[in-house]
Amino acid sequence: MTYKEKLEDPLWIAKRHWIIKLDNFHCRHCNSPAFTEIFRAKYIVRGTEKILLPEYSYLNFEEFLKLNVHHKHYRQGSEPWEYEDDALITLCPECHKKEHETKKIPVYSSRGGLLDYCEICERCGVSVTSPNIAM
Ligand SMILES: [Zn+2]
Ligand SMILES: [Zn+2]
Repeated sequence: MTYKEKLEDPLWIAKRHWIIKLDNFHCRHCNSPAFTEIFRAKYIVRGTEKILLPEYSYLNFEEFLKLNVHHKHYRQGSEPWEYEDDALITLCPECHKKEHETKKIPVYSSRGGLLDYCEICERCGVSVTSPNIAM
């Protein structure tokens, strides 16, 4: 299974959704949201006063799909979904690209020792050059 195929695995999709939900459907760097709030007018009447209430928020699925879940580090032998929640972060495509352009992602051995750095790769589903580390 290639890494790209692994990112289509239901286990990764579920983990990805979970992380995006934990991050409250926002990019953690620029706070760009995955949803548009739509307020449906609804009143509660208190005495002579009419109070408007927001009825619900609406998730924009297109925006949600655009959000990326980035690995802050990689671990040899681990599947993309086999990471602790705090090793993963929700980023919008722009911030994700920037992150990979400006930071080297550490790669640890299964025992936790630092093996190497991954400069730019497509391990998080970002389309950049091919990974320089075989895992
Ligand atoms: Zn962002
Ligand atoms: Zn990434």
